[in-house]
Amino acid sequence: MKELDFVVVGSGIAGLSFALKAAQHGSVAVITKRKGADSNTAWAQGGIACVTSDEDSFELHVRDTLEAGAGLCDEKVVRTIVTEAPEAIRELMEVGVHFDERDVTGHRELDLGREGGHSKRRVLHVQDVTGREIENKLLAALGRSPRVQLLENHTAIDLITAAKLGFATEDRCLGLYSLDEKTGEVETIRSDRVVLATGGCGKVYLYTTNPAVATGDGVAMAWRAGVAIANMEFVQFHPTCLFHAEQRSFLISEAVRGEGGILRDARRAQSMRRSNAAVRNAFIWTLRTSRRRFCVNVFRTFLRPVCSSGSI
Ligand SMILES: Cc1cc2nc3c(=O)[nH]c(=O)nc-3n(C[C@H](O)[C@H](O)[C@H](O)COP(=O)(O)OP(=O)(O)OC[C@H]3O[C@@H](n4cnc5c(N)ncnc54)[C@H](O)[C@@H]3O)c2cc1C
Repeated sequence: MKELDFVVVGSGIAGLSFALKAAQHGSVAVITKRKGADSNTAWAQGGIACVTSDEDSFELHVRDTLEAGAGLCDEKVVRTIVTEAPEAIRELMEVGVHFDERDVTGHRELDLGREGGHSKRRVLHVQDVTGREIENKLLAALGRSPRVQLLENHTAIDLITAAKLGFATEDRCLGLYSLDEKTGEVETIRSDRVVLATGGCGKVYLYTTNPAVATGDGVAMAWRAGVAIANMEFVQFHPTCLFHAEQRSFLISEAVRGEGGILRDARRAQSMRRSNAAVRNAFIWTLRTSRRRFCVNVFRTFLRPVCSSGSI
């Protein structure tokens, strides 16, 4: 049986960022069910929204987010995320993430992209492989930390709780069971601090841009341990996913639409023109309506780039 101060399940941006901080306080194991880089994080393309420009403000970012959220956002949470974003970006830069820059009249500044729903340019990116760069740099930092062990090909199966063991004490998490995919053995890992950072469950859908690991395991484990589950109706989707009958579907970056890429239907009509800069939910609504009008042809789309720079 392994015993650690912290156990983190998941090696995406959430799990790795937490593990690096936790390592300052004790021993950490990061359990991940495939290779370290197998995560949604590594597939993220367009970039991260953060107020960094003098022409932008926290208030504008909050307003855009609340509008995009169509009344469903918790404003306090939105304000926290928006105002703490520059600090989180600084931490990523500290581990070596180098966001794209551009030359502006003799000086360098961040090359900010624009995506649907944003009234200002505020998306920091690394070409069109932002997530891959973040994942690689976080994994490299983890490798330099002597207090963290990365357990690849280990699938967390279930949480161990006081109640499940029949203890008469207050119910709390005591660790977890993990399957070593290579040996086929189930290990018991003991820890008083277990963090579930297993990402989403996009793979419950047949067609998704999410990778195979996105099966909602952490949510299921938490639920079985008696944790209240909320917001399960929010599942990430990308309206501009290139469909191919025989190949893995992949995302055509959201940045394409934000930068003015034009979506056309099979008759080459610009049926989606009004939706080009719209947030995803508005966009998908137009797509649904048009689909009725144009049947399946609408999914054979043509994107004409109208911008020569940026992360397209
Ligand atoms: C194609 C694509 C493009 C995207 N583009 C953007 C973008 O431009 N900007 C943006 O902000 N967001 C984008 N996103 C969303 C973003 O990638 C995610 O919101 C974010 O990466 C989630 O990070 P995470 O650490 O919570 O989860 P993940 O990165 O998914 O990490 C979850 C980890 O948990 C592991 N895991 C799961 N179950 C188990 C288990 N039972 N045992 C052990 N390990 C387990 C997985 O293997 C993985 O390592 C995009 C997503 C995709 C798929």
